[in-house]
Amino acid sequence: MHEKFDTIVVGAGPAGNAAAYTLAKAGLSVLQIERGETPGSKNVQGAILYADALERIIPDFRDDAPLERYLIEQRGWLLDDEAYVGGNYRAEAFNRPPYNRYTIVRAQFDKWFSKKVQDAGGLVICETTVRELIFDGDRVAGVLTDREGGAIYADLVILADGVNSTLARKAGFHPELKPKDVALAVKETLFLAPEIIEPRFNVKGDEGVAIEMVGKITKGMIGTGFLYTNKESLTIGVGCMLSDFAAQKIPPYVMLEEMKAHPAIRPLLEGAEVKEYVAHLIPEGGYDAIPKLYGNGWMIAGDSAGLVNAVHREGSNLAMTSGRLAAETAIDLHAAGQPFSAANLAGYKQRLDDSFVMKDLKKYRRLPAALHRSPHFFTLYPELITLAAHQWVKVDGVDKKSKEREVRRAFAGRRGWLGMMGDAFRLWRAFE
Ligand SMILES: Cc1cc2nc3c(=O)[nH]c(=O)nc-3n(C[C@H](O)[C@H](O)[C@H](O)COP(=O)(O)OP(=O)(O)OC[C@H]3O[C@@H](n4cnc5c(N)ncnc54)[C@H](O)[C@@H]3O)c2cc1C
Repeated sequence: MHEKFDTIVVGAGPAGNAAAYTLAKAGLSVLQIERGETPGSKNVQGAILYADALERIIPDFRDDAPLERYLIEQRGWLLDDEAYVGGNYRAEAFNRPPYNRYTIVRAQFDKWFSKKVQDAGGLVICETTVRELIFDGDRVAGVLTDREGGAIYADLVILADGVNSTLARKAGFHPELKPKDVALAVKETLFLAPEIIEPRFNVKGDEGVAIEMVGKITKGMIGTGFLYTNKESLTIGVGCMLSDFAAQKIPPYVMLEEMKAHPAIRPLLEGAEVKEYVAHLIPEGGYDAIPKLYGNGWMIAGDSAGLVNAVHREGSNLAMTSGRLAAETAIDLHAAGQPFSAANLAGYKQRLDDSFVMKDLKKYRRLPAALHRSPHFFTLYPELITLAAHQWVKVDGVDKKSKEREVRRAFAGRRGWLGMMGDAFRLWRAFE
């Protein structure tokens, strides 16, 4: 007799943990398999946690989850080589519980979430890699792990194995990920004492700040940078499309070093000590790059399903929501005595379509193409907008009308009115 579970979940990131916890709590037998030494040990995120998605799974998560700072202020910067134009949103509404967004350290957070899975009755095994799926005809019947006698069977397998799922590719569910649909992000964690972080970022206690950046830091490539405050550290990172890195041949760590040296960023990092450097892929192909999400005996969730909203830097919440919805689909079928057939698991796609996950991804479906067509958003416009800001702020005896004329001339001369109208139209359509 071989071992058999109701469900096997591959991966112990946010998607896998959300699925395994929801299933185990509902009483289904769950085996969760993670290749890392501990859950989260290999996982990379900025990392902002969006409370809402987790609250729907573990309503009282704030009681014991390892949270760093709750975010009370969002800064957005458009950077030129030596300047930036920015906007801040700081609200007392974000400074009252229940807090809406937190910074977290994934290694600690994933371990905490995994303990919840185990407390709910799920069996979690780490340091075990799923090599491939086991088929019975066209139905997924289990997984083959790298352990001795490593075949394990289940009525349903949920793939939550992260970006570029090798399992889905090997099984023929997904095509190879295209470099234009995936970003490569690098991130550093830098130790800095809270007594320095707090006055430097204008926060106190557990308050925190997130800074999102776009502009010349990515050297004309499609991408963004970020800087977040943790309790005793800062995280800084930058990510661009893999296709752009390949074409421009700029090593990502060089881009990060240059970003850290930017005159607007360097003072914020002063005295901070690098603790960790990591690189990871992010699926950013958007709605049109989402692969098939279910079939006979399987569903796929989180990054492995390409569910990332790059515009809003949301990934972990889409991962947790998709993991939860996959689990709820399975729970309802199990309760009704229905098999996990492709026809029945179509309910998972329907739930995703009805949720913010697909609605948001659909809203921005034109954005990747618009950005590929107009790289000026990352080069020329930051330059022109900082020029306009400079003229606005500088007092030098030149009259204001002449300054306006100079700015208008710069915009028209560098991009042309038709070019700008085209860019504005494409951007409007992409955000419509
Ligand atoms: C630099 C960076 C910054 C980011 N910032 C944010 C942010 O601030 N906020 C946000 O919401 N999102 C952010 N994201 C995105 C977010 O990290 C992902 O969307 C999220 O981690 C996806 O969760 P997941 O569970 O689908 O995949 P993952 O977190 O990648 O988890 C997959 C798990 O599966 C395991 N695994 C893989 N293959 C196998 C196998 N064959 N057998 C066993 N185990 C396997 C892996 O070890 C891993 O633990 C960021 C991403 C990056 C790279």
